[in-house]
Amino acid sequence: MLDTYKHKGMRKKLRDILERKGISDQRILNAIETVPRHVFMDSSFLEFAYEDKPFPIGSGQTISQPYTVAFQTELLNVEKGDKILEIGTGSGYQSCILLEMGAKVYTIERQKALYLKTKNFLQELGYRPKMITYGDGYKGMPTEAPFDKIIVTAGAPFIPQDLVDQLKPGGILVIPVGTDFQIMKRIMKGPDNSVVEEDHGSFRFVPLLSKKADD
Ligand code: SAH
Repeated sequence: MLDTYKHKGMRKKLRDILERKGISDQRILNAIETVPRHVFMDSSFLEFAYEDKPFPIGSGQTISQPYTVAFQTELLNVEKGDKILEIGTGSGYQSCILLEMGAKVYTIERQKALYLKTKNFLQELGYRPKMITYGDGYKGMPTEAPFDKIIVTAGAPFIPQDLVDQLKPGGILVIPVGTDFQIMKRIMKGPDNSVVEEDHGSFRFVPLLSKKADD
């Protein structure tokens, strides 16, 4: 799909909106300005691509609101070269933001159709996560653990212990926790493996469901 000057101009506006809403990390804002969000959506919804709103992407799922993507990314303190696990690949947009920031991305999606679609799509776009898998995010990715950072992009009813276990000492887990709405939690693992938990406001996500969809 074409990326035109018009789209670039719209992304610059979105960048400014997110900066006004309090996102200050210029590397995140640069990534928002670089990744063409409109190509992650159905072509008939192009005009909505650069509004700061979530949007349906098929299979009953959504592409998160740009502010939420930027906010979660900010809480992760992404460093170039970080090994990051994402739970809930969805459209792949969040993965691309992390890839633009120089992270090594591992991502899991529980819906097979969405997993297959996004895997092919990211390849076409030229974005290369280290691993994109079909599986149950509650279990994390034990074969590739430990991770510097873990980001969960669906609402979890509780904090899965497997994810905490798969963090390196000094690692960070960002996870929205709750059912009707979620509190954004940041879990920081100390060098001695002790854990500190912070709350960062309320959000609304689609639910983190257990097991793979086709099981
Ligand atoms: N990060 C996505 C937003 C995804 S919405 C983006 O940038 O577009 C949340 C996604 O989590 C959905 O695609 C949903 O299917 C997926 N999901 C829900 N439960 C899951 C689980 N247990 N494991 C992995 N993915 C899950």
